[in-house]
Amino acid sequence: MPNHPASPHLPFGENKHAEWYGKDILSVRQFTRQDLGYIFGVAHEMRGMVERVGTFDLLKGKILANLFYEPSTRTSSSFTSAMERLGGSVIPINEVRYSSVSKGESLPDTVRTLECYADVIVLRHPEVGSAALAAQFARKPVINAGDGIGEHPTQALLDTFTIFEELGVGGMDGLTVTMLGDLKYGRTVHSLARLLSLYKVKLNYVSPDILRMPAEVMEEVAGKGIVQHEYPILDTILPESDVLYVTRVQKERFENPDEYEKVKDAFVINPQIMQAAKKNMIVMHPLPRVSEISIEFDDDPRAAYFRQMEYGLYVRMALLAMVLGKA
Ligand code: ASP
Repeated sequence: MPNHPASPHLPFGENKHAEWYGKDILSVRQFTRQDLGYIFGVAHEMRGMVERVGTFDLLKGKILANLFYEPSTRTSSSFTSAMERLGGSVIPINEVRYSSVSKGESLPDTVRTLECYADVIVLRHPEVGSAALAAQFARKPVINAGDGIGEHPTQALLDTFTIFEELGVGGMDGLTVTMLGDLKYGRTVHSLARLLSLYKVKLNYVSPDILRMPAEVMEEVAGKGIVQHEYPILDTILPESDVLYVTRVQKERFENPDEYEKVKDAFVINPQIMQAAKKNMIVMHPLPRVSEISIEFDDDPRAAYFRQMEYGLYVRMALLAMVLGKA
């Protein structure tokens, strides 16, 4: 069993004085390494509970509002599944055009409305800072499920949990993580690079020149003493990578479609390319994938991207239990 410090025991009693009770989850900057140990401990136990009993009543009577202004499959449905597996229920607002948002309602007013009916709000929105804005107006906890090209903290937590569960038996320190693809617009890599800087990892960034990792993210990560290198091609650093984190080129963020066409297939991972990689490494992807990983690679044991989705369920169960005072 991987090393989870402070692994708690289920079932939990309700505790309004618990550290995470009522807290917003807006950015990975709010977490310490010790917090991650705690969250991963709870997530690990959630996994065990799901495997043993499937669904249990930890959050019975609690209601989650799932407010999505941008498309989502995994984040939205895994939060729904997480809430329902914990015995709670969900108000799904996936099509804001059918809600009062289409009548011109502001985000603060929509959030004020939903918190009358729900105990926690999960928000995805196209603007950077939207979750922080919503949290200013909400008395109930707000969880950032992606704010434009800003952050995706729950994805970074589940990504780090995936690395922890798959490779972390000997600890996270010393791992080499290579991020590939659209590092400019990909909010998942912005959050993941920041979160991994809590460990002594080495980070490589491989991207077309116009999609490089933003300078502010690199400066923040460098400030934690993390070694980072940028490369235009994958070949040189693939053999030393413990994790290859592939991202989709974010078509919807490009103003000029010709620019997208030029870079959309800049990197494609396939079995031939992966012959140069270690046997005991993993390939991750936040999904959805378009063409950046060929389906021929899916059966390779190193292809962790489908397992990664499942880890997301356990991490989101842990976060909901925590902010609702049950962990
Ligand atoms: N699902 C991830 C996100 O919402 C990655 C992606 O869309 O490419 O950021």
